[in-house]
Amino acid sequence: MLEGKAREAGVETIFDLLWRVPRAYGDAPERVLLGDLEMGVTATVLVEVNSIRRIRVRRRGLSVVEGKVADSSGEQKVVWFNQPWIENQVKGGSSYVMEGRLDKKGLVVSAQEPTDAGPDGVPVTEGPARWQDAGADGPPGLREGGIRGRHPGSEELRPARWRGWAWHACRLAGDLIEPLPSSILERRGLAGTVSAIREAHFPQSEESSVLAMARLAYEELFLHQAVLRRGRIEGRTGGPPAIPLVGGEDDSRDWLKGLPFDLTADQEAAVKVISGDLERTVPMRRLLMGEVGSGKTVVALEAMLRAAGSGTQSALMAPTEVLADQHAATVSRLLSGSGITFALLTGSTPPEVRTRLLEALITNDLDILIGTHALLEDPVVFSRLALCVIDEEHRFGVRQRGRLDRKAPEGHGAHILHMTATPIPRTLSLTAYGDLDVTELRQLPAGRLPITTRVLNEASRGEAFEHLRSEVRDGRQAFVVCPLIEKSELLQARAAIEEAERLREGELKEFEVGLIHGQMSSQQKATAMAAFEDGRTDVLVSTTVIEVGIDVPNATVMVVEGAERFGLSQLHQLRGRIGRGHHAGACFLIAGSSGAASARRLAALADESDGFRLAEIDLEMRGEGEVTGVRQHGLPRFAVARLPRDEALLEAARSDLDLLVGKGGGLDRPELGPMLELAGRRFGPEGIKR
Ligand code: ADP
Ligand code: MG
Repeated sequence: MLEGKAREAGVETIFDLLWRVPRAYGDAPERVLLGDLEMGVTATVLVEVNSIRRIRVRRRGLSVVEGKVADSSGEQKVVWFNQPWIENQVKGGSSYVMEGRLDKKGLVVSAQEPTDAGPDGVPVTEGPARWQDAGADGPPGLREGGIRGRHPGSEELRPARWRGWAWHACRLAGDLIEPLPSSILERRGLAGTVSAIREAHFPQSEESSVLAMARLAYEELFLHQAVLRRGRIEGRTGGPPAIPLVGGEDDSRDWLKGLPFDLTADQEAAVKVISGDLERTVPMRRLLMGEVGSGKTVVALEAMLRAAGSGTQSALMAPTEVLADQHAATVSRLLSGSGITFALLTGSTPPEVRTRLLEALITNDLDILIGTHALLEDPVVFSRLALCVIDEEHRFGVRQRGRLDRKAPEGHGAHILHMTATPIPRTLSLTAYGDLDVTELRQLPAGRLPITTRVLNEASRGEAFEHLRSEVRDGRQAFVVCPLIEKSELLQARAAIEEAERLREGELKEFEVGLIHGQMSSQQKATAMAAFEDGRTDVLVSTTVIEVGIDVPNATVMVVEGAERFGLSQLHQLRGRIGRGHHAGACFLIAGSSGAASARRLAALADESDGFRLAEIDLEMRGEGEVTGVRQHGLPRFAVARLPRDEALLEAARSDLDLLVGKGGGLDRPELGPMLELAGRRFGPEGIKR
């Protein structure tokens, strides 16, 4: 039934078609007599076809079908463009409802329906035709007055065509299985899935369209939460048990006491909940979400200490060498005198060091191994791996996404702690990370100096560089971030090279200007970083490679060129690179073009320093697809549900699920089988693209 073009638009089955509901609703065009048609106005007419034929046209790629139709007011020429099949579909002598717009060639028809019989030959009565009047066999109602769904078109298929197909699909929809448990339908007073689908496509009224759409959104969110919950329970109880980590409490307490700072309340709460996880045989699957500098590494290190205290090993894997180096530096600083052993393993580790390290690992003489995806290689064999900490997992390439926890001892699973510095709003984390427990570190450690953020236009960019120069003269350092160039690391690198050249000759002539970009080898990057860290370069010109993991406390100024091209969360990440030491930071956002929307987004950044709040603002302003990190994390594509708009429905679905199976309860009851099967088919067995 569906054409290749429909498949190109992502619609392969009738089910897909049914869920391709209108994007919006409007008033259907009024029914008029042929004699009352007005030039340029879309209208509906009820006519009899006197003649129809295909016209030969000279222009290739154009087809024209012409006809003569009549009603009580007279005759009218009608035309169909590029629908050659109309010649066989529309029969002379039959009556049709037609919708179209009059122009000088005649009435250009965009949709038509026979009135004397439905497509299955069932005669149809006169008058307004709606599902509730005519039952499942009724026509879709080109004749209906009032509200009309606007079906989304696709590149090659016009909305009217989708609408026609939707009608046929709705007629077949009676066989759809109701996926929602009847107890929920009853308690919430929800319509069945079939009538909701039909109402969404061909509603009786505006209210009924709103109710139908909410019902469908709820269904999607409920089913999605159900698969996530099942995956999460099976993923943990179905696999081998983790080694329960008990016995590290004393070490942990002593270590925390010896730290040069007190944990923030958020850190304390995270430590508590994680230690609870680690004591169980059910493997931990937790995500620790907190901005750069919120102290995630410290929390992870506490867990690794517990692991060491109970005679097991842990691994901390980061997506880049820079990040792995930095974790190693933090760990080294915080572990001195604790008796805990750790090592760093990356692609740059010299062979003899590597050999020694791997030996120590297998004899359990090494408590903590930190590194990049080099940790995944086969020769890396642990004696008793019990805890895996994975930083910024979504930044690992697909090929590197092997599983570290496979290296746990035979017959055991590992506890896994994921960390991310890209906070995403709760509504998204409930859907994107539904399989993980989420812990947030929202507070930054005390004593952080605020960063002043200013938005400047091109004309006043001189002010930014003036401030930059005065800071560098005072011994501070600075970043200049080059504009984001869509999809091309190469172009971006080139822009950074040119910018560095230009600044060396111009604004920053008196200083040492360094350069770092994604096209450099990791060796070159490390050299550039080291020069900046040691203060041999004053200003680092860079692409977004500095977004994560660069920690130079002496850097106090950042200038972001073309700031309007970045996402809010990304800019927030970037500015997190400055003001990390004892001096206040200043961030200048140079906005090239000044659209109202981008001006509003940048203003939000100047006002707001909480990354979680900014992620919410970004989500409200740009929609879920654009929020940094969300797409990589594999948010499902819902057909109807939209977040954060449908947050209330999401919460309702979650609490209904709890009510159905008990809080945290399993979904293994046989009567839930059909629902889970449907849900699994719709969203994939795990509900996420991990
Ligand atoms: P993240 O991994 O979230 O970016 P880190 O754990 O690396 O953050 O911490 C950033 C810096 O802040 C480190 O130098 C760390 O020692 C320090 N730090 C962590 N927690 C605190 C705290 N509660 N008080 C003061 N400094 C802290
Ligand atoms: Mg960190």
